[in-house]
Amino acid sequence: MTRAVKKAVKKAVKKAVKKAVKKPANQTVKSPKNPTATHATPVGGLLGAHVSSAGGPALTPGRGDVIGASAIQLFTKTPNQWREPEIDDATAAAFRAALAASGVRFTTSHDSYLINLASPDATLRARSLDSFTRELRRCHALGLDAVVSHPGNFIGDRASGLARNADAITEALEAAPGPTRLCMELTAGQGTVLGSTFEEMAALLARIPARLQHRLGVCLDTAHVFAAGYDLITDYDGVWTRFADVIGLERRGVLHLNDSAVPFGSRKDRHALIGEGHIGDEPFRRIMSDPRLRDVPKILETPKGDDLAEDIANLAKLRSLIAW
Ligand SMILES: [Zn+2]
Ligand SMILES: [Zn+2]
Repeated sequence: MTRAVKKAVKKAVKKAVKKAVKKPANQTVKSPKNPTATHATPVGGLLGAHVSSAGGPALTPGRGDVIGASAIQLFTKTPNQWREPEIDDATAAAFRAALAASGVRFTTSHDSYLINLASPDATLRARSLDSFTRELRRCHALGLDAVVSHPGNFIGDRASGLARNADAITEALEAAPGPTRLCMELTAGQGTVLGSTFEEMAALLARIPARLQHRLGVCLDTAHVFAAGYDLITDYDGVWTRFADVIGLERRGVLHLNDSAVPFGSRKDRHALIGEGHIGDEPFRRIMSDPRLRDVPKILETPKGDDLAEDIANLAKLRSLIAW
């Protein structure tokens, strides 16, 4: 991180905390659930990016403010390690205070890359289930709106992998009740990963008991579905009609807005800056102007340097594409 950005982040966090401390406990704060919001409706709806959690979750809303985000995604832990920290009361309170004072209105976690709830290896699956359950507990403790999670890799037999995945999700949701919505992310379909077709995602969700269905949503990543063979360029409406028919529009929980560094149907997961990959500007213009997606939080996971200039430019670009 450059010194200028560090300074800007520090300043935004300081300002946010100061504002939060000054506020009486019962004063209105901006929230999608709070109709008397103190922040005006942001242009482009709930829009932002994945932000760094370095230094702890309380610093993430300030980082959202630096890039002008109204929605952020964060890791609640180091995503490539099995270490599972717990969120203590002080950490949760600091995060909530910083969030309340920021312009961020939607928060989602992204779970660890190591988790494979579909694994045929009993040890890895048990470890994954423990890690995933603890992830849900951290999200509940922080009061996050959503947690985005990838379906696992079936490795051997596809149908058994899907069953293992659904059973583990069920077990974790039962073990960790709370407000955070689990949004399963559609994948690019590389190797034996599950969830790269709308049908398979629907089948996975359908295996989870009815009493837990209200806690489930879907995350659609534009780069993933494009690489998986959903043609957002020439058949934008057809893709969404299929989504509505097979998964159901009520499941749309989060959109990941990424251009794709790899061609259509390549089944690889490589993100590019908006308009600089194989998807190009047009599908993003459609998404930003689509009334069906107006209320769906939109998050960038595009490449960036330490000064976050790419995030700021990409968000400005997305806002400029809105047709209304
Ligand atoms: Zn993801
Ligand atoms: Zn994604």
